[in-house]
Amino acid sequence: MDKSVIKFNHCDKDIYCFFVPDQCPECGVSFSGKRLEEAPVSIPNPVSNGHQAPCAFLVASTEDSALRDFDGCSDLHTGISNTNGIVYNYTKTGVQREHQGWEHCICIPLVQPDMFSLMSQWDQYLEKFSSAQMWDPSWQSFNEESHNCYSYSLMFINRVLATQSKPALSKEEFTRSFVLPRIKRASKYMMLCREISQNHFYIVDSPRRNSGEGPSEEDEDSKSN
Ligand SMILES: [Zn+2]
Repeated sequence: MDKSVIKFNHCDKDIYCFFVPDQCPECGVSFSGKRLEEAPVSIPNPVSNGHQAPCAFLVASTEDSALRDFDGCSDLHTGISNTNGIVYNYTKTGVQREHQGWEHCICIPLVQPDMFSLMSQWDQYLEKFSSAQMWDPSWQSFNEESHNCYSYSLMFINRVLATQSKPALSKEEFTRSFVLPRIKRASKYMMLCREISQNHFYIVDSPRRNSGEGPSEEDEDSKSN
């Protein structure tokens, strides 16, 4: 997944590929010496290295199918990174502090670059939160449904929101507004990579042509990063 996906438009199609070809795969017209009507755009890879994303909520994305079916419960592993890229995550044996293993993640930054005071206290908050009794397996045990890596991560996020005097997010709100849209984007990106690896191109009708009702959901997905 090191290659990045680009998209260009021809024949009223959106054509996804790793390299702009010499000729249009739809109509065969040669592009050499000609300019495409619109410059190809590169689609950002939604999966990146969690150890290089400080102060972020991370969703480990090992399997495409797990991403596709994710419902906010137990299929995926989630964690929180500190300022040095150490990933704190809650498991059956308690909170782990990991220096590796989170290289392919969906990373959701939790701190804006101008939030200096939060950033300076982040590691301390995270360490203190993780040392609480409720994450000690001898005191309260892991539960696939209700006391898992997701509830650990979300509870920490809500603690941080509280320090900013912001209201807490419910699990449903958090999943719907922050997690699912990114998972959808990552899942689509993986599909594109798979299709392009197999067929060189992935070609769909350009949304401008078949909707006429403004940008499609898919278009928004690729823009809103
Ligand atoms: Zn064409």
